[in-house]
Amino acid sequence: MSTASLPISNINGQPLNEEQMRYLTGFFAGVAARGQRFSDVEAPPILAKSIAHEDLVFEERVKKELHPLDAYPLLLEHAASNKAPEKEEVFRFKWNGLFYLSPNKEAFMARLRIPGGQLRTFQLRELANIAKQLTTGYVQITTRANLQMRLIQPKDTPEFLHRIQSVGLHARGSGADNIRNLTANPTAGVDPHELIDVMPLCHEMGQIILNDRSFYDLPRKFNIAYDGGGLIGTVEDTNDVGCKAVKMGEEIFFRIALGGATGHKAFARDLGVLVKPEELNKVVSAIVRVYIEHGNRGDRKKARLKHLLEKWTLEQYLEETEKLLGYQLQRVPLDPALIEYPGQKLPHSHVGVYPQKQKGLNYVGVAMPVGQITPKQMIRIAEIADLYGSGEIRLTVWQNFVIPNVPDHFVATVKKALRKIGFDTQQSNLRSGIIACTGNSYCKFAQANTKGHAMELADYLDKRIKLDQPVNIHLTGCPHSCAQHYMGDIGLLGTKAKIAGESVDGYHIFVGGGFGASQAVGRQVFNAIDFESAKPLVEKMLRGYLRHREGNETFQAF
Ligand code: SF4
Repeated sequence: MSTASLPISNINGQPLNEEQMRYLTGFFAGVAARGQRFSDVEAPPILAKSIAHEDLVFEERVKKELHPLDAYPLLLEHAASNKAPEKEEVFRFKWNGLFYLSPNKEAFMARLRIPGGQLRTFQLRELANIAKQLTTGYVQITTRANLQMRLIQPKDTPEFLHRIQSVGLHARGSGADNIRNLTANPTAGVDPHELIDVMPLCHEMGQIILNDRSFYDLPRKFNIAYDGGGLIGTVEDTNDVGCKAVKMGEEIFFRIALGGATGHKAFARDLGVLVKPEELNKVVSAIVRVYIEHGNRGDRKKARLKHLLEKWTLEQYLEETEKLLGYQLQRVPLDPALIEYPGQKLPHSHVGVYPQKQKGLNYVGVAMPVGQITPKQMIRIAEIADLYGSGEIRLTVWQNFVIPNVPDHFVATVKKALRKIGFDTQQSNLRSGIIACTGNSYCKFAQANTKGHAMELADYLDKRIKLDQPVNIHLTGCPHSCAQHYMGDIGLLGTKAKIAGESVDGYHIFVGGGFGASQAVGRQVFNAIDFESAKPLVEKMLRGYLRHREGNETFQAF
């Protein structure tokens, strides 16, 4: 390679940006300092990628043209003109946690980052105010223990970002090719069942990501979960990286599983190593870096970690990880008998009152069908958590929340106060297990009104059938499977059905999915059933199960 042959423009034929120039200056200085000839040196990746840019898929090209973290001035420009963003900016602004909802709505949805779902009440209050003042007030808890808000006008996006940051929150990298909200047991630190409090690990990883720009250009989205063995699990086996605490003798370690993506019917597979808590995030970071380096950037449909693991063995992935770490990890084959899932002995334990490991204190899990919450409710919840708890709430992957640290003598008051604002704390075998993705009111991919249908289905079934054991029903609007229909006892996947030649909201129906100790991918049993017909069909499925199950037989075994 000679200097004369070096491209001096970026992939769009425009001058190199400052960062690229700085990188190249350093590269050339290094070559000269080592006394090498340029013709003997391999082109640095920045140029190699530039040279091949015409072959890049749209998303990779957009990232290479202008790193989305550098696109904030464009966000300001759009805000100043209150204009809809162009296709490239729609993609880039997802790095700010902003999702333009066109054609459904001409406004943004914002997704935050709330590591471990842990929120302080002053944050909740400000989020309620933001929701009232800058959005339609539509707030939902997601299946990654996170909050989403809609609808934000382009002109309000800088103020939105500024205000969430002013209370110590942010939305950086909550969408697109980034590591999504980190999840942890919502009762970490207070749960008597847990082996280890994973909240510090979760927050540490949050900071590692936030302070390292290289974690903001992955081949595709990436999920990480920490499970310390608490009663409310994190469904860590549905994540790209699931860390699960185990006890070996008197010591606590983590097992790491890779490649979960339930929308792709894949559960994470055990990597065959034991990792000490203090080295866990170093190992997780190395695992992510292997994916950054080797994940598929040419075909978005084959870009998840799961796809890399279809080409590579787990051992190969482990070896690449160890190369980055510079040492070997302790290989110990998985013994499933050592993995505990206390939550599966007490399903739906995200709802109800439970004693904490701290004597005299309790956590209160609140029933919240499909995760919808109003700003008024948020303000009142903050008051309740301040008055009777410790000024904290935790969001769960079951789209509800928990108030920790409630003294025994305040439990009845908290339950009553929550009931007054429309929230029950009574576990229901049906309602506590219904989750739904956003649906067609706000998501352009949705084939059905999942949230509305979930509520309607719950009302319909409640009037007709009494369940004597918890059942999970997951409604998801499209194959992206944000509500993980493959892992519900019953899963509904939105589609269009035909009635008298007319296209209406409908569902493919699945049965037998599970996670953790009951890990199973649901199998499809009905195709494109319109929602009105799906209701009695689900009722029949539940009745058939209750009539024919043997003993405590689960849906997975049925
Ligand atoms: Fe939208 Fe599909 Fe996700 Fe539902 S599953 S929120 S329809 S992308």
